[in-house]
Amino acid sequence: MSKRDPRPHVLAVANQKGGVAKTTSVASIGAALAELGQKVLLVDLDPQSCLTFSLGIDPEDLEISVHHVLTKGVDATEVILETDDGVDLLPATIELARAEADLLTRTGREHVIRGVVEDLSASGTHYDWILLDCPPSLGVLTVAALTAADGVLVPLQCETLSHRGVGQLLDTVHDVRRFTNRDLEVWGVLPTLYDGRTNHARAVLDTISETYDLEVVEPPIPKTIKFAEAPAAGRSILATSRTSKGAQAYREVAGNLMKRAAR
Ligand code: ADP
Ligand code: MG
Repeated sequence: MSKRDPRPHVLAVANQKGGVAKTTSVASIGAALAELGQKVLLVDLDPQSCLTFSLGIDPEDLEISVHHVLTKGVDATEVILETDDGVDLLPATIELARAEADLLTRTGREHVIRGVVEDLSASGTHYDWILLDCPPSLGVLTVAALTAADGVLVPLQCETLSHRGVGQLLDTVHDVRRFTNRDLEVWGVLPTLYDGRTNHARAVLDTISETYDLEVVEPPIPKTIKFAEAPAAGRSILATSRTSKGAQAYREVAGNLMKRAAR
């Protein structure tokens, strides 16, 4: 990259279905972007705090977290932590479960994350990328993430019924475009937990991308046992299994996202 973009690229990783590798993708793409020399902030928006855990931080040890930033006006820079994977993290704790209810009666709640991103830029804290790890719902936090984002990436497990929720997610994206963020773009679906040995996975993927007219972000992330080991180690798969196919696939995805951002 020749010159620095003054604004970060803000990417929401969203799918209201759980277990489709949102969190794994955020951690792995984040680590891969950092390997490429990018300054990266990951934001854990799930009260289950899996992203926070998987980057080696125990939420129980935290006194302040993203919850305080979103609902109590605490400065994000006071909460952001550095991680061993070379990315910064705005961590979550179970307290975030209350944020949904706390924000529900607030004016401008859709804009809380956008506000955090703008405050970071205004305070001179530069990031090239901000990746938002959305919870498995289409509630206030996901809508606020989409409102803050330039793009949304939809991890999708390529199995027969996996597309039932996609239409609903895209409806939400359309609403966000109409009401709170007209610049939001769908960057595409990212096939995850992909079993390339079956034609079935490819067929499901083709059906989904045709039905909803969605781009497919390449390459698909292979299903491999290595991913089960990474979170317990507190590092992304890029560190725990450097040369594995899964790590390599995420590196390629990160490279493709860099190209997408530059266009
Ligand atoms: P989500 O955030 O969408 O709920 P996670 O990223 O937490 O999904 O992933 C769900 C589970 O699947 C985790 O146990 C994770 O380790 C596992 N997993 C993610 N990606 C892969 C993969 N490519 N191969 C095998 N297991 C994976
Ligand atoms: Mg998750």
